[in-house]
This record gives sequence, structure tokens and C-alpha cells, in this order.
Amino acid sequence: MNRRKFVSSMLALPAMPLLLQSCEWGDVSFDFPINVHSDRNRGHAIFKQKNLPVKDTIQVETLIVGGGIAGLSAANHLPHKDFLLCELSDRLGGTSAATNHKDLPLSQGAHYDLEYPQNYGESVLGLLDHLGIIEQMTWKSSWGFKDQQYIIPHEIKNQCYDHGKFRGDVLREGEMKSAFQQLLLPYLDKMVMPTRLIEEKYKHLNDQTFIDFLHQNMKVDDQFIRGLDYHMLDDWGGLSSQVSALAGIHYFQCRPYYREVNQLFSPPQGNDYFVSKLASQVPSEQLQVNSLVRSLEKKEGSWNAEVLDLQSSSISKIKAKNVIYAGQKHALKYILPQYYPLFSENDYAPWLVMNFVLNKPFGEFGFWQNEMIVEDISFLGFINSSAQHRGLQEKQVLTAYYCLPSDSRKDLASISMNKNTIVQKTLNYLKGYFNQGIENRVEAVYLNAMGHAMPIPKPGFLFQDKNEQVKNEQLAFAGVDHHRLPLLFEAIDSGIAAVEAIYRTSKVK
Ligand SMILES: Cc1cc2nc3c(=O)[nH]c(=O)nc-3n(C[C@H](O)[C@H](O)[C@H](O)COP(=O)(O)OP(=O)(O)OC[C@H]3O[C@@H](n4cnc5c(N)ncnc54)[C@H](O)[C@@H]3O)c2cc1C
Repeated sequence: MNRRKFVSSMLALPAMPLLLQSCEWGDVSFDFPINVHSDRNRGHAIFKQKNLPVKDTIQVETLIVGGGIAGLSAANHLPHKDFLLCELSDRLGGTSAATNHKDLPLSQGAHYDLEYPQNYGESVLGLLDHLGIIEQMTWKSSWGFKDQQYIIPHEIKNQCYDHGKFRGDVLREGEMKSAFQQLLLPYLDKMVMPTRLIEEKYKHLNDQTFIDFLHQNMKVDDQFIRGLDYHMLDDWGGLSSQVSALAGIHYFQCRPYYREVNQLFSPPQGNDYFVSKLASQVPSEQLQVNSLVRSLEKKEGSWNAEVLDLQSSSISKIKAKNVIYAGQKHALKYILPQYYPLFSENDYAPWLVMNFVLNKPFGEFGFWQNEMIVEDISFLGFINSSAQHRGLQEKQVLTAYYCLPSDSRKDLASISMNKNTIVQKTLNYLKGYFNQGIENRVEAVYLNAMGHAMPIPKPGFLFQDKNEQVKNEQLAFAGVDHHRLPLLFEAIDSGIAAVEAIYRTSKVK
């Protein structure tokens, strides 16, 4: 590796913006390839010239915009098979997608799920059961996963690295943690999923921030808040001063974490496992990738959509009776502007995921989640594939995560230009963790940049079903940015609920 002008003590650099605006650090180069995936330019093709050739005209009963978990779940739940799902990316899955390095699967977004208590919503449990993913566990009141080979053993689930020292949990043991657990205890079993099933009497927790809730009820110091912020960024994309008290409490109390061992399910391809299962149940020709829905208009009782084929730069005109909009809602501004105000308050966290493929695995380092507390609050540590495969492998994958502040989104545009310095900065963090440089083990690196990755559940975000407001339009919204917590279960439920809203059935439970 050549490191001209490289600033060696990157650990001293301040936090987030430097990650993306690091060109002034000088040249860094590596002798392994760094591949970048970003759908930014694909999304921006919405502004491409208007008079492109028309490829075909298609009539379907239902058009689904977006092939993430929500759109695919809607496709699975439709009462008919006369639909077309359009996804702008070159792959399905959205923030739960994966890629490959040769035969090795690499998770590039969501990477795990946990067993489901029985008081969770029946509709999602029913779909997961139907897909052959889960089964009732006879020895406890939960639904567990059938593919037991992907359960991460409890002893190697996680460890926390905090400025050079290791411990078991991000929140330090002590009086403050005990008081915190005590404070949250009454909410155990009450923080169900999907969140739309949460009882009325807890909804006031959606009106204040998590940190305000804590300040009102207990003493918290900066170190404790730093730990909480780690957790909130990791799952909700915002700090404890940004997310609602409901989101914060939900994180800790949606399962009996402190009472029981909860099965943690994490296949090597991450939640793309669920994407593949959902996609396998519907005809593949009805799931179209490279297809950007760039406009929607209702005329004479039908929806007219223009879909840009990003490979041939031509247009398909689609006429549909119903539209399920499961794409991110910020783009409604251009696609369906009259409904953008319904979502104008949404704030999204950008994320950067980095897979390091190592051709010389570390033998004894095997914790699955390696939470890292460093001075850059946006860096969240890494997942270690050796805990997923178990046993010695020829290759090992370390998947590192950054949850960025929303105002750094524009800087993701220069990700390809800055990829070397971003990788270098991350390698430096990993060097701190392993207490040795790891670049001589790296065979390839894959980056995935996602600009509108996670809707931040700020106060007021949850419990707003916008489908009530569009119910006469044969239109329904799905996706976690339709006022859900950014979780697999919520995404699936939102897809199911969108279908139920269109067909005016009330089976959704
Ligand atoms: C880094 C990261 C890690 C995560 N980890 C976990 C985890 O471990 N467990 C968990 O439960 N959850 C996790 N989440 C959250 C989880 O990924 C999401 O809740 C879920 O996948 C969201 O699915 P969705 O369908 O609502 O949205 P998305 O995944 O955002 O899907 C929307 C899709 O619509 C497409 N689209 C948008 N506009 C258009 C258009 N005009 N035309 C065509 N297509 C369009 C997009 O390209 C995208 O594919 C994570 C999220 C991130 C970002």
C-alpha cells in the first residue's frame, strides 16, 4: 500500500463530515479492488430528458413502486397475480439487499432479525410461516426460525470495544444501568410489533424525545448517553435526543431481552434471505429491476405511470387500477407531488456499509456483532462472518457500518472519488480493534452508499396512517417511512396493510 501524505493519527480527527469530505487528506491507494454501489444516479435519472422513446404500453391491475421488503410483501399479499413491481436498482431488496464476492454472499444493509413473541401481529407471522421461515417454538411462547444453522450462538453474539477496551455490553454495568432497566420494566410486553398494535395508553410516548423522557425520570451521565446514542443510531438512525421515547423504549422492551435468551437469526447474506424468500413466491417476470417509476398521474379513474428502463433509456407506459407506493417518500415531490406534503416531515439517515473480504481469516476472533465506540459517533463497528459460518473458512467478511447525519447526504455523491480514504479510515478503526493492521489480509472491499436509508422515528413520526387520507384513490403507501419503525417486521406489515387498504378488507391483525 502506498500512503503518500497520509495523516497517520486519524483517530484524532473529528467526527462525521470528514469521513465523506476527506479528499484533502491526500492520496491513498491499495492493491485490492474497492467496488462502490450507489443508486443515487439511478434515482436522479428522474430528471432525465422527458421525450425518450416509448418501449411498450402495459395494463395491469396493480403497480407496485419499489422492490424493498415492503413492496415484495405487498406483492405476496395481493389477492390476484395481475401486478407489476418496479424497482429502480439493479437488484431487489432496497436497504435489505446483498451482493456477492465470487460465491461469497455479502450483506449490504439489514443483517439480522430476532425471534417473535406470540403477541406480535398475526399477519406478518402468518406470511413468514407461509414462506417456511418461522415456526412456533413449543418450549416457549415465541416464533423461532426454521433455518437453525443461521442462529448466532448466544455466547458469541456481541462484544463492545470502547476506546481500546472490551466489555460485554455497550451500556456499562452499574447503578445507572440498573435504574434504567427498572424504569423501562413496566413496558415489557407492551412494545409490540407492528407498532400500529401498540395500545392507546402508550402512544403519548411518541410525543417526546427519549432523552427528555429519561431526564424526567432518572439521572443519566454523558457516558451513559453515549451508549444509548450508539444503540439509537444503530437501529433508528438518530440520537436519543432525536428519536421518540417510544422508539427508545421499544428498542429495549420489544422482547424479554433481560429475562430470556432470544434467538438471533443472521444468515451470511443478511436480510436478503427474506428478500429471496419473498421474491421466490411470485413470477420473476413481474419483478422488474432497473425500472424507475418517474411519474404517476390519475386520469379517468386509472393510474398512468411512466417507467424509465435504466438500461435501454426508454419508457414503458403503465396503466393500472391500483398503485402501491413502497418507494422512499421524499421522491413523491417529483413523482406524485400532490401527496408529498403527507411525508414532508420525514427525515432520513444516510448509511454506508462496507464489506471487507479477507483471504486470511482471523482464527480466534469470532464475535458476531462488534459494537465500537470511537470518537466518530457515526461509526458503529462491524459484523464478523466467522460467527455466521462457524468453523474455519477460507475467507472471512467484516461488514462495517456508518450511520451518517442527514445533512451529509450530499457528500455521498463523492463516494467513488473518496473511496480510498474512507476505506483507510475504516481500516484504521479495525486496526484499533484487532490491535494489528489488517490490510494485508484484504482481498476486496465493497461499499454500499444509501442516501435515504432509514426514516428517523422522531417525536410524532409513528401512528400516522396516511392510507386513510387516500382511501378513495386506489392508492396506498407502504414502507417503513410510512410512519413505522425501521425494522423488517414493520416493513412487511406495511406492505400487507397497503394491500388491505386498497382492497378495503380488514383482515390485517
Ligand atoms: C444499514 C442498515 C441496516 C439495517 N439493519 C436492520 C436489521 O438488521 N434488522 C432489521 O429489522 N432492519 C434493519 N434495517 C432496516 C430495514 O432495512 C428496513 O426496515 C427495511 O428493509 C425497509 O424496507 P422498505 O421496503 O420499507 O424500504 P427500502 O428498503 O428503502 O425499499 C424501498 C425500495 O424502493 C425503491 N424505489 C424508490 N423509489 C422508486 C421509484 N421511483 N421507482 C422504483 N423503485 C423505487 C428503492 O430503490 C428501494 O429498493 C437496516 C437498515 C439499514 C439502512
